[in-house]
Parts: sequence; structure tokens; C-alpha cells
Amino acid sequence: MSDYRIWPLNTGTIIVDKGGYITRGQGLGIEVEIPATAWYLSDGQHKVLVDTGMCHTDLAHWHHGGSQQGPDQAVHKCLARLGVDPADIELIIFTHLHWDHCHNLDQFPRARMVVSQTELAFALEPIPPYYKSYEYSALGKRAPFLNRNFEQINGEVDVLPGLTIFPTPGHSPGHQSVAVSTSGGVHVITGDAVFAYVNLQPAGPHLPFNIMGRFADIVASWHSLEEITRRADVVLPGHDMAVFDSPVYPRQGA
Ligand SMILES: [Zn+2]
Repeated sequence: MSDYRIWPLNTGTIIVDKGGYITRGQGLGIEVEIPATAWYLSDGQHKVLVDTGMCHTDLAHWHHGGSQQGPDQAVHKCLARLGVDPADIELIIFTHLHWDHCHNLDQFPRARMVVSQTELAFALEPIPPYYKSYEYSALGKRAPFLNRNFEQINGEVDVLPGLTIFPTPGHSPGHQSVAVSTSGGVHVITGDAVFAYVNLQPAGPHLPFNIMGRFADIVASWHSLEEITRRADVVLPGHDMAVFDSPVYPRQGA
């Protein structure tokens, strides 16, 4: 039985419209700050990342005005504070390839990089409303995932003992989440299949979830919320400051 510990890494702050992103239609016109979270995992033997977080401030500001990455927030600097050499990261699992989840890949020369085949295909040729999310070349950008030697997967995969990748499409076509075995039960790192804890709260008598505002497919997003709550003892969402209330998971005393 593998026993991982999980550290949330705050790679920067994004400004978004609450009703457009966090809670569908609730809070339209209200700007909120959210973290771009990446995750470092280790069982004492393997050193793993889930996502690598966002880019420097200039590019972040192009995406969402006012967003910023502080001088010590890039993913490799977050790792250095934990005493982890980026060159020792052996595996990076990408939940998806939106701009705020996959920057700074040059920092990880030895890592296997795992993404879903569906996500990579869409990221390379997105429909125009998603050009910006994937920094598509038509906009004069160069996406960080171009010309990388990804391992592409389909469906559920046990990538290491204690680490299971499973599909959670909806936010993006090939989105996936990671179920992590810990001494405190199964922790699911959701990426953007759950933006914030509020998404897991009921929105009404027949609405067990308060669905996110940002999705490519609302039906798939809903089913992914169901799948995550079915598997998880603890849910770790992609854009909620509350995950930093604990420096490491499982929470102390849990
Ligand atoms: Zn996203």
C-alpha cells in the first residue's frame, strides 16, 4: 500500500469573473482572485508533479488582466522551497493543457510527461473559442506543450503504485484527475474538474453540486463531479485558496 504525501504549490494569482468561471451564473460581473495550483507528491521514493502551474506575469496578464506570478511563485521555485530539485522529478501528470497548468516544462529534464491523448489532440488544434486557453499559434503565441515527448494515455491508468489517473472530461475534452493513496484515505487532485470547494456544495433541492461556470461540455462536467465524489475521501480542487490552509496532505492529525 503506497502512502503518499501531497504539497499544494501556489504558482500565481488569476483574476476571473466569479459567475463566468467559479459558479455558473452566480456572481457575474464580480472579479475574484484565484490561485493557479500545482501539486508535488512523494511517497518517499517517487517524486511526482500533477500540473506545473502558470506562466510569468506578462503572459498571465494577456490571458486575464491583472493576473500575476510573484518572483518566487514559478513551480520550480515552489519546489526549491520544499528542498526538491526539479531535476529529480520523475513524472508529471497533466490534468489538462490550459495555460495555467503546464508552463515551465524546461525545468524538468528527466520527467516522464503524461497527458490524455484526447486532450493533447484538442490542445494542438482547438476550436477558436479555446485558442487563448491553449496559447494557439494563430494568436502569435507558442504553447509550452509543443514538441514535447508526452506519454499519451486513454482511460484509467495506474501510473505508479498508489497513483491512479482517471478521466474527468467536461472542463476540457481530455481532462483527467488523479486519485492518490495516502494514510488519510484517497485524495483526488481534480485539476479544473472541480474549481473550488463551493462546487461540491448543493445548489438546490435537486442539485447536489454547484457546477463551475467554465466548461466545454456541461453534461460531462456533471458526470465528472459525480465520479470524483464517488472515489474521493478528500477532494483537492484546482483553484481554491483554501487548499493552502494545510501545507501538506493528508492534513496533520487526519
Ligand atoms: Zn482549465
